Amino acid sequence: MKKTIFAILGCLLISFTASGWGREGHETVAKIAENNLKPSVKKKIEKYLGGKSIVYYAKWMDDYRHTPEYGFTTGWHVNYADADGNYVHDEKSGDAIYGLEQAIGNLENYKELSDSAVAVNIKYVIHLVGDMHCPAHVKYAVHDQKYKVRIGSETMPVHTAWDDGIIKATRYFSATEWAGELDRLDARTSRAIAEGSPRDWFRDCVGTCAVQFEITRPGEQVTQDDLNIAVPLIESQILKAGLRLAELLNGLF
Ligand SMILES: [Zn+2]
Repeated sequence: MKKTIFAILGCLLISFTASGWGREGHETVAKIAENNLKPSVKKKIEKYLGGKSIVYYAKWMDDYRHTPEYGFTTGWHVNYADADGNYVHDEKSGDAIYGLEQAIGNLENYKELSDSAVAVNIKYVIHLVGDMHCPAHVKYAVHDQKYKVRIGSETMPVHTAWDDGIIKATRYFSATEWAGELDRLDARTSRAIAEGSPRDWFRDCVGTCAVQFEITRPGEQVTQDDLNIAVPLIESQILKAGLRLAELLNGLF
């Protein structure tokens, strides 16, 4: 009995500490992407998703990683960098770039796949582009990322703070509203952000997200001044993820 309870607690802990952006972040990434999809691509993708949108399935991977069928994807939600900031593939559990590159490879020949295989690979792409832009999901060789911080009166793992703790403390937009507020760059700037491959995007994330260790410090309260720096970083990461996801899907379909 005790063992079972510990096993359940262990699973809960994993789901809280490594789920990626919470619902708000993932759905906003997908909404920005949806707003930038070519109409023909949007229509094609929604046909494979049974009439649902990419926003509807933005968090699907977090909900299904706990099922026996998709347990093998549990390690896919983060990426690891070596001391020089280069991508390091986790051969044992996989990682976001590994999952993403496989899904992209599959979707490049989507006409040869079954409809259900196309659908699941779309769900991987939607989610993993989001996850890899979450500061907590950039795993640095040179930083401890297992400490706790306080936001308001709540103590939480620093990972949770960046997944959704900071968002919940500061933002009350729906995904549609938030996407509308963030996605306001001119077309040329948006296109420049969306360029490159997932490996290029990871390099960019390693650089931009390193400031997280100055914003959320071990054992410390996250102050309003910290939040004032954290929120623009989060919003910039969400916008980049959304624009890059759109570019990727527009290229695939
Ligand atoms: Zn995730």
